[in-house]
Formats: sequence, C-alpha cells, structure tokens
Amino acid sequence: MGCKKYFTLSFDDGVEQDKKIIALMKRYGLHGTFNLNSGLFGYRPKLFNINRIPKDEIKQVYEGFEVASHGARHENPRTVSRRRLEASIAEDIEELSGLVGYRVKGHAYPYGFHTAAGEECLRGHGVLYARRIRGSGSFLFPANPYRYDPTCWFNAKNVFRLIDGFIQARPENGDLLFMMWGHGYEMDYGLRKCPEDQLERIFSKIAGRSDIVYCSNKEAFERDLQ
Ligand SMILES: [Zn+2]
Repeated sequence: MGCKKYFTLSFDDGVEQDKKIIALMKRYGLHGTFNLNSGLFGYRPKLFNINRIPKDEIKQVYEGFEVASHGARHENPRTVSRRRLEASIAEDIEELSGLVGYRVKGHAYPYGFHTAAGEECLRGHGVLYARRIRGSGSFLFPANPYRYDPTCWFNAKNVFRLIDGFIQARPENGDLLFMMWGHGYEMDYGLRKCPEDQLERIFSKIAGRSDIVYCSNKEAFERDLQ
C-alpha cells in the first residue's frame, strides 16, 4: 500500500459558532475534532460573543465528529498545581466520554501549553495525542504525538499557500498530514477576526479530492489500525 495524505480539522472551546462550522464541514464532506471544556458548558460571558454550547446539546451537536478534551475549566497547565491539572484532565475526559458514549482519546492543551506533567497524565488516561497551537507549516506526522503542532491556524496569512502545497505534495516517504485549527468565534468576533467566507473558501479548495483522506485527528493517529 502506498502512503496517504490525511486532512483534519480541530476547533476549540465548544462555542455556538461550532454549529455553523459543522454544517459547513458536512456540506464539504470534511471530518474533524472539537476540543471541549466540560466545566464551562453553557457559559455565556456578557461582553463577548463566545457563548458555550450547553451540556444538553453536546451529544447531538457533535454527533459524527470526534469530541476531545481541553481541560475541564480551561485551566492553564503552566500555572495550576499538579493536582489541579490532573483533576482537570481526568474530570474532562470522564465527563465528555459519558456524554458522547465513547472513550475520549484526544486532547488540546489549554492555551497550547504542553507540560511534562500534563503529558504524563494524558498518557495515563489512554489519550493518543495532544495538540498545541503554534503552526508548524509542516505536513509531517509529529515525532511525539503529545507535542502535536497544527500545520496552521485557519486565518494564518499563508493558509492558502500551504493548502496548495499540500494538494501538490506526493506522499512518497511516509504519510502526510495537514491539520488546521481555530476557534469558531474567530469567524465573527475579535481582533483576529477573519473574512466571513474564510472557512468556506478553505473547505471548497481542499474538499473532494480522491487522494486525500478526510478524517478526525483520532482517525489520523489510528491510521495504522484502519
Ligand atoms: Zn481553548
């Protein structure tokens, strides 16, 4: 069997805008992962449009997509105590697994901060991979899946150039991976607000290619088992 090209998406924090993203992903036949904070379900800050999806909607909204953990209350791995960090990871995995009906196997580090203690804890809970946030510009699978960097943010300046590169890339010496990440609210809020049709432009460009496997992050890391 030849090598393959995998494309996956990853969105954090479980905000209402995820619903729009999911509709768009379905339209283009894309798959991906949503990293949720189970201790913040339904949280609606007064000032910003970053409203979290309520607990009773989680299973239905994310049906068909991978749900992964992101720390129960988005605790900062660099500043919380080890005990708190471990509780944050354990609580989130348990709560989310119970809600979606399968064992959660992925993680996105809150604020993108990898720590040795966090990695150890995640391994202990059977998590397969853990994601950071800094774009690598790379199409290679990470050497350490617990230090998994995205290829790019969906509003990165070079996102379309990277997609062109990926479309043209030939996976001759191993499988290739393009992982794009972001927050749903970045579509319509904030300093880093992106063009309204940014995701649609990206999705229409990458979708529908017979040589690309569109999958969740978990499926990309489990590819040898497929
Ligand atoms: Zn986050």
